[in-house]
Amino acid sequence: MEPTRHEFLFQSGTLPKAIFYILTFLSIGIMMWQFAGRARFWMKGKKLTWRPDYISGIVTYILAQRKVMGSRPKDGAPLHLMIFYGFLSLFIATTLLAIATYGPLIGLPNWHRGSYYLAYETIFDALGLLFIIGVAWAYLRRRRLSAERGEPTRDPVTGKLARSSNPITTEWKDFAALGLLFVLGITGYVLEGARIAANPQPWDHYSFVGYGLAQLMPGLSPTGYVAIWWFHMVVVWAFFIALPHMRLKHIVVATLTAAGDPKKPMGALPAVDMAAFADTGSMGAAEAKDYSRWHLMSLDACMSCGRCTEVCPAYGAGKILNPKQVVQDIHRTLTIGENVPATVSEDALWACTTCNACVEACPVLIRHVDLIVDARRNLVSEGRLSGSGSLVLKQIGGTGSAWGQAASSREEWMKGMDIPLCRDGESFDVLFWVGCAGAMDPAAVRTTKAMARLMQKAGIRFACLGEEESCTGDPARRIGDETTFVTQAEHNQKVFAKYGVTKIVTACPHCLNTLSNEYGDFGTSLQVLHHAQLLDDLIAEGRLKPASLLPGSTTYHDPCYLARINNISDAPRRLVGQNGNHDDPTPLLLKSLAASDDETIFAEPEHHARKTLCCGAGGGRMWMEEEPNQRPGEKRAQELLATGAKEVAVSCPFCRIMLDASVKQATDEEINLVDLAELVERANS
Ligand code: SF4
Ligand code: SF4
Repeated sequence: MEPTRHEFLFQSGTLPKAIFYILTFLSIGIMMWQFAGRARFWMKGKKLTWRPDYISGIVTYILAQRKVMGSRPKDGAPLHLMIFYGFLSLFIATTLLAIATYGPLIGLPNWHRGSYYLAYETIFDALGLLFIIGVAWAYLRRRRLSAERGEPTRDPVTGKLARSSNPITTEWKDFAALGLLFVLGITGYVLEGARIAANPQPWDHYSFVGYGLAQLMPGLSPTGYVAIWWFHMVVVWAFFIALPHMRLKHIVVATLTAAGDPKKPMGALPAVDMAAFADTGSMGAAEAKDYSRWHLMSLDACMSCGRCTEVCPAYGAGKILNPKQVVQDIHRTLTIGENVPATVSEDALWACTTCNACVEACPVLIRHVDLIVDARRNLVSEGRLSGSGSLVLKQIGGTGSAWGQAASSREEWMKGMDIPLCRDGESFDVLFWVGCAGAMDPAAVRTTKAMARLMQKAGIRFACLGEEESCTGDPARRIGDETTFVTQAEHNQKVFAKYGVTKIVTACPHCLNTLSNEYGDFGTSLQVLHHAQLLDDLIAEGRLKPASLLPGSTTYHDPCYLARINNISDAPRRLVGQNGNHDDPTPLLLKSLAASDDETIFAEPEHHARKTLCCGAGGGRMWMEEEPNQRPGEKRAQELLATGAKEVAVSCPFCRIMLDASVKQATDEEINLVDLAELVERANS
C-alpha cells in the first residue's frame, strides 16, 4: 500500500464535514470582520503619497526578518525566529495539504502520497518543533522579565503609564496568547500521535514526533481520536477569533505594514501638502486622521515590546517622552478621536531629538519620528512653540542662519585662506557646503578650516557659496516649521541650479541628511558626501599621505544622523584607526603609524555605529532649554569617557557642541574633542 493518510478519519457522512467547514469559515470570517473594523479606522487617514514596493517589503521584513535578525539576542531575536519560521512552516504544511486534498475537485491529482508524503511528514514534524520550543522559550522569558521588572504603574486619572514605568510591559493577554499558541502546537502533535495510535501504518515512524507520542496512548479507540481531532479544531477556531485582540495580530498587520513600507530613507520626513495648508491654514497632525493611512495602520502592529523606549535617549535621560507610549496614545486617539498633541503631551513631543533610535529598534517598522514631527507641525502652526525653540525659527527665517548671524559672516572663516567662491566663476568639481555651525561656531570653524586645507593639499577643485549659502532648513523642519524649511530648500535649490551643483561635501551630518534625502522633493538630485568619506577616499587614493605619529588613545562618537540614519560608520573608523570591520579590527591608518607603540589607540564605546547613543542635539533640541539633570549628552559623555580614551573624535558640529559641555560636566580631566578633519590634518602635518 502506498504511504498516505486520509482526512476525516473515522468520520464518515456529511455532518462532521459540514460542521467543520461552517465553523472554520465562520471563525475566519469573524477574524476578518474584526480586522476590517480596524481597517475602517486606518482609512480615516490621508491617502498615501508614495508607491511602496510590495514584494520587497514582504521579502525583506517578513520572510527575511531583517529587523529581527538585526536585533540583539537579549531582545528575544532567536526565539522570535523559531516561532516565526516554525509558524510559517506549519502554515505552508496546511496549505499544501489543503491543495492536495481539494485539488482533485478541479482535476488536480492528489499528490499527498508516496515519497512526497513521507518527506512531508518528516520535514514538517521537525519544523513544528521549532515553533513549540520557541513559544515555550518566549513564555519563560516573559515570566522572567515580568518578575524582574515589576508591573507598570498607571496614572489613576488618565490611565496612562507613569513616566518611570517599565518599558517592557506584560499583560495577562500576552501569557494567554502564548498559551494558546503552545496548546495549538502541542495538540497538533497529539492529534498526529492519536491518529497513529488509532490507525497504525508501516510508515508511521516518518512522523517521528507523532510516532513517539503514539507510544503513550497504545490502542486508542477511534472515538478517542475523533475527540482529540475536534478539540484541536476548537483551539484553531479560538486562535482565529482571538488573533485580532492579541499582540499576535502583528502577524497580519506587520505583514501589511511591510508591504506598504514607504521606500523613503530613514532620514526623510513625509512632505506636507503646502497647497492644502494654504487653503486650510492647518498643518500637521491635530487628530489621528491627519496621519497617512499607512502610519495609522502601523500603530496597530505595535506589540508593546518596549524596545523603542529602551533605546530612547530622552527617556533614558529621565524625560517624559516614552516612544512606546506615544504610539499607544496616538492609537487611542484614533479610536476615540482626541487631540493628538494633548493626549501625547506637548512636553513629550518637544523632548524628541529625532535620533531615530526608536525607528531602528522597532521590529514592526513604526516610524515614531514621522508621528512626532507631524504633531509638532500642528503645534507650530497653532503658535504653541515659544522660548528658544521659537527664536531659532525666527533666526532662520530672518537671516538664513540658525545662529542668527548675517550672511556675510559666512565668509569670515575664509580670511587669508584663498578659498574659491562659486560666484568667482571658476569651474569646480565639488561644492564645499560649510553649514551654519561650520561658519559660525568657533569649534566647528576649526573643522571647516582643516577640511579646506586638506582639500587644497589633495588638489580637490572645490568652491564654497559663502554668503549665498543659507541654512538647509533641517532644524526648522524637525522642530515642525515646514514653511521655513520649504523657503530654505527652494532658495538653496535655486542657488544649486545657478552654479550647476551636482556634488557636495559637508562636515555636518544634518546638512548631509537634508540635502541628500529631502531636497529630492524640490527637484534637486545631488551626490552628497560626508567629509569623512571624502578624506577616506583621498587617503585610499594616496592623495593625502599621513606621515606622523598620533599618540594617545582615541574613541569615536558616531552621530545619529551619520551612522544610524545615513549608514556611514566605516569611513570615520578607518580615519581613527579601525578598518570599519568589527570582526577584523585591524588598524588601518593610525595603528600603522604607531607601529612602534603597542598600546591600544582606538577604544569603541558601548553604543556605536547604527546603535549609537544620541548626544541630544537633533530635532532642534540643541537650541531648546534643558533641565540640568535631563541632558542626553551626559550619558553619552560618560560612555565615551568609560573607554579610557584621552581624545574623543567627532564628526558633527552639533555633537561637538553638546559633548563638549557634557564631557566638561562629567570629568575634570583634560579630554580633547577633535573633529576627524583635524585628526587627519594632524597626521598629515
Ligand atoms: S527619535 Fe530618539 S529621542 Fe525621539 S522618540 Fe525616538 S528614540 Fe526617543
Ligand atoms: S512601537 Fe515598535 S518597538 Fe515600540 S513597543 Fe511598539 S512594536 Fe515595540
